[in-house]
Amino acid sequence: MITAERYHDISVGHRVAGHESKCKYLHGHNYRIHFVVAAPELDSIGRVMDFSVIKEKLCMWLEDNYDHKFLMWEHDPLLEQMKAVDVLSIVITEFNPTAENIAKHLVEQVAIYQLSGTGCILIECRVEETRKCLATYKIKL
Ligand SMILES: [Zn+2]
Repeated sequence: MITAERYHDISVGHRVAGHESKCKYLHGHNYRIHFVVAAPELDSIGRVMDFSVIKEKLCMWLEDNYDHKFLMWEHDPLLEQMKAVDVLSIVITEFNPTAENIAKHLVEQVAIYQLSGTGCILIECRVEETRKCLATYKIKL
């Protein structure tokens, strides 16, 4: 299989509700998010998907929705207090915002919508919280 891959860097705040140590605190990361796209066959000039289209469909979604925002789980006990401080900074998520859950959400929800009609699918997403720590979500083909 041939894939096309592009990454994008964003700065995002979060906290992990229920975490046993310091990830329970309000903090953030300079995330690097890698998108791996596949198609049943290459297009007429030999591409899975033009890299500029990965940028337009997926990287720009990150810019518009997550960059410089604060991710909070809808069941986080601090959510109402955080909304009172600055509601425009908060992105309420259906999942506790770990790197694993962010990767899964980007593949299963965001990319399904963003890539619809392109003939391509996001088969893997890697979410780096730091240069040392990352989570990967892959679709089984
Ligand atoms: Zn963190």
